This record gives sequence, structure tokens and C-alpha cells, in this order.
Amino acid sequence: MRFSKMLIPTLKESPADAEVVSHKLMLRGGYIRKLASGIYSYLPLGLAAIRKVEKIVQEEMNLAGAQELLLPMVQPSDLWKESGRWQKYGAELLRFTDRHDRESCLGPTHEEVITDLVRKNLHSYRDLPINLYQIQTKFRDEIRPRFGLMRGREFIMKDGYSFDATESGAEETYEKMNVAYHKIFSRCGLKFRAVDADSGTIGGSFSHEFMVLADTGEDTIVTCRNCSYAANMEKAQAAISPSDNAEMKDLEKIETPGKRKVVAVCDFLNITPDKLVKTLIYIVDGTPVAVLLRGDHEVQEVKLQNLLNADEIRLADDKEVFDATGVPTGYLGPAGLGIKKVADQEVGQMRNFAIGANEKNYHMLNANLERDFEIDAIGDIRTVTEQDLCPKCAGPLELTKGIEVGHIFKLGTSYSESLKATFLDSQGEEKYFIMGCYGIGVSRIVAAAIEQNHDKDGMIFPMPIAPFQVMILNLSTKDEDITHAAEALYQKCLDNGIEAIIDDRDERPGIKFKDADLIGIPLRVNVGKNFSKDGQVEIKIRSTGETLSFSADDAPEKIKKLVEEALHIDNL
Ligand code: ATP
Ligand code: MG
Repeated sequence: MRFSKMLIPTLKESPADAEVVSHKLMLRGGYIRKLASGIYSYLPLGLAAIRKVEKIVQEEMNLAGAQELLLPMVQPSDLWKESGRWQKYGAELLRFTDRHDRESCLGPTHEEVITDLVRKNLHSYRDLPINLYQIQTKFRDEIRPRFGLMRGREFIMKDGYSFDATESGAEETYEKMNVAYHKIFSRCGLKFRAVDADSGTIGGSFSHEFMVLADTGEDTIVTCRNCSYAANMEKAQAAISPSDNAEMKDLEKIETPGKRKVVAVCDFLNITPDKLVKTLIYIVDGTPVAVLLRGDHEVQEVKLQNLLNADEIRLADDKEVFDATGVPTGYLGPAGLGIKKVADQEVGQMRNFAIGANEKNYHMLNANLERDFEIDAIGDIRTVTEQDLCPKCAGPLELTKGIEVGHIFKLGTSYSESLKATFLDSQGEEKYFIMGCYGIGVSRIVAAAIEQNHDKDGMIFPMPIAPFQVMILNLSTKDEDITHAAEALYQKCLDNGIEAIIDDRDERPGIKFKDADLIGIPLRVNVGKNFSKDGQVEIKIRSTGETLSFSADDAPEKIKKLVEEALHIDNL
């Protein structure tokens, strides 16, 4: 390709509304343009990178036995009503009516459509397992679209769905996808971690998120510095504290005038927050529930929601707290509180702790779970911090930022049951399909790769997903010899099967260097003054800044070798 003929509208300055580096650089490098909030045009360079990702995804999915198809983007509401998600999905689902007044939506995901397809066309265990995927534009009316391709409203996703006849078969398929995903992200040249993710009511380790490690990530992941333990915040656990076996002391009511916050109460009582149990009120599917936690711990709401098997939970406001308990916030405690109570497991390890006295300006000392109050449920409902220890090996935990680029999930029979999708097993019995779903954020991967690989001058694309492998700069289009050499080198690269772009614009070298750094093609070849002097060209490696000089004749072989090496390294 020729730079002079391509649509690469580079910009000197970052547009003001771009917050993260990938967004800024993709706009500046002429990879994308914004059409509306969360909606972008992919320009030739952006699309080339996306196509590279798609190819890797297709190759690995096909190798793993999945088949590609393409489902409609517009979906009728009936199917969503059948699954129950027409009500549940909320405002992210863009709904509309057509000229015949038929309700429809733009597909944010395709469980309904694929399950409908399979229930109508596959009827026997002999047809199973089957794994189907597509690469398609999705629409989610995200509440806060931001960061360019990272969180768009319209974006490209690979979504795959598997149908198995048996539990063990479904688990095998899940494992195959797990392996394929590791290969896909390695082949993309990304540093990533697969982390245990929340699988809701399904349980077990049947949900993993694939996180590209980058400081700007929106997600936090918990990893152990000693062993392979890795989980996202919703799922992460910590080693439980040893139980305190101290003698139980007598319960004691104590005046704590105006002391409502944990820190203020603890300062006043001269204790540390790990000697206090705080009581929070949550509204759980419309009903108030008291949630007990050690003073220095915070609630992890997804864990709480799972423990309570609830559809919706939220913290109660002050009025709701008072209406439910008759006690102002700040003085609540579990003893004598007449509503449902759940406790974090760490509360069960404590002895002689402080609690609110359920009376304004009073707390209690020396409360004990076994003696002073009863609870309805206990479990892990707290957020892990860097002060915690690994649940597997008790090593130190580390919190890192990541960008979710993929998610695999064993769905079980939730969709096949709601949509009545069945097959006949070998005994002739009617059974629900056991499903799995597997997503990859194709357009997000390109943004994540840039978040992970850039410097002050621009993007640094990993070779396997770079729009081009090499960029040849003709540094003097007015000089016939230089132009001839640059063109010959470009042609030779193409002949060698190298994806090359030549900057043949009538521009100063400084501008060409700047644009080349910005666009981030892994290899750059300068054909300029040194060629005129002694027939040399320079190959600059974008990631290291290293510059190698070669005779123009030797350059094509060297370029080929460097490309192959980079693809090979990224393949490991
Ligand atoms: P997130 O928590 O980031 O909103 P999600 O859990 O909603 O993601 P899934 O429904 O699992 O995402 O979708 C599969 C993949 O699609 C995600 O792993 C992510 O890479 C990508 N993705 C999801 N939402 C967006 C978006 N708004 N823009 C770009 N990519 C997205
Ligand atoms: Mg989402």
C-alpha cells in the first residue's frame, strides 16, 4: 500500500475528549474516527488491525472444532420475552419498533437467537456436541461509552455458543475453549492473565475472564505473587484468618456520643477496626437485610448477591435503614436486630468485638457471635485487598489492573430451559442442551494492545496484529536514486510475502518519522541520505528503538527474517 493513496488522516494534537492513550493514539494515527458517542468508523489502518485479530480468532476457533456462521443483528422481541431478558436486560438493550409495529432490538449478544436456531434444527444426541461462533458488530447502549474502542456502544465481538449432551461433554468443550483462548491471546502478542470469574449460580471454576495487563484497565485482578492463583475482584478470595480463641468477656454497653463512623468509634473506644463488626443494611429484592462485616473490610456485592441468591441488591439509604430497624445509621448492631442477618465468614473468626447497640449514641463491647446474636447465613462476602493472603498458598496477593478481552462461561441449561430447547438422548429421553458461551472483544483487543504497547511517540504494534509489518520511508521523493531504491525494496518485500506500506508522500523526513512512530508499524526502513552515500538503508525496530544498517540489497532478506522472528516469538 502507498501512504500517499491511503486514508490515513494523522493529527498533530490529541482530540480533547480522548482520555486514554489508545483512544488518543488511534484518533491521532488515523485508525478511527468518531461518528457519535461510542460509535466509530474504522479507517483502513484500524480495520487492518481488526482483521488480523479476526483471522487469529477464526484460525484457533476452527482448530478447536467450532464452526463459523453469521446471525442477524436485528432480533425480534418474542425470543427475548421467552428467555425473560426483554424485562431483565435493562437500558443497554436498544429496542425499537418497525413499520408494522413489531418490537425488535439490536443484538448485544446472541444466546436467544442461537438457542432458537439449534432447537429448531438439532434434535438428537447424535448431532452433539456442536460449537458455533460468529464475528459481528454488537450494539449495547452502554451508560458510559468511553475510551474509544475500549467501551463502545457499537463494537465487534466474536461470540461462540456450544451445545453438549452431557455435563462431562460440556466441561470438555469448556476446556477446549480455554486452551483456544490462551492460544488466541498469545498469538496476538499480548501479555494477559486468565482469571477465575464469577459464574453466578453455576458454581465451580466454569467462568474465566481473559485480562490484558495494563495500568489503564477498568478491571482489577487479584494474583498471588507465589503461586498461579488469579481471580477477578468479584470472585477473588483470601486465606481466612485464624479463629480467635480468647475467653468470652461480658457484654458491656458504652456511650459513644456522636460516634458513627468505624474510625471515629474505634478511636473513641481505643480499639483497631478489626475488633469491631459493622452492620450495613442492604435492600435485597425489596427486603431489608443486615450485612455484618469486620470493621476494616468492605462488601463485595456480587458475592453478597450470590450468597443470598438475589436478583437485585443495593445499599439502603438512611431513611430505609431507620424504617427497617428504628435505629439511625451508625449505631446499628446485630444483637436484638429483628431482620434477616448475613455475616462475612471473618466475623465467625472473631471474639469480644464491638458492635452498635441499636440505640443512638451507644455501642457494645465484647460481643460474640455464638452467644449474643444469631445469623441466617455466613459466607465470603468481602472484597479482597493487598493486605490479604492467597487462599491457595497463603502467599502475598497483588492487585493489578486489567482490560477484559475475553470471557468463557459454562451456561448450563438456563437458556435451553427457558427457551425449551431439547434433544433426545441415547435412551430416547428428552433432555435440555447443556450450553456454554464464549466471547472475545475483537475491537477492544486492538485498543488493549495499544494500552499495553506504546511510548510517548505513538503506538508500538505487536507484529501479529499490526496493520502492516514493515513501513518503508522514501526520505527524498525528489531524488531519483533514493526513490528507485525505496520502490524496489517495497516491491521486493511484497514479493517476499511481507505486508509492506511505503511512505511515498512528498513530505519532509521529520514528518515521515513522526507519522511512522505514531502509527506504530513494527519495522521501519529509512531510505535516504545513507543510501546516496554508500548504498545503505536503516531498519528501525519500533519496540526497542534499535537501528540496524544494511546494504539495500541485503535489506529484504533481513526484513523477512525479522518479521518471521517477531511472529514466532509472539506465537510462543
Ligand atoms: P464489560 O464488563 O467490560 O462490560 P461484559 O462482561 O459486558 O464486559 P461480555 O458480555 O462477556 O462482556 O462480552 C464479551 C467481550 O466483549 C468482553 O470480554 C469484552 O472484551 C467485549 N466487550 C463487552 N462490552 C464491550 C464494549 N462496550 N465495547 C467493546 N468491547 C466490549
Ligand atoms: Mg458490559
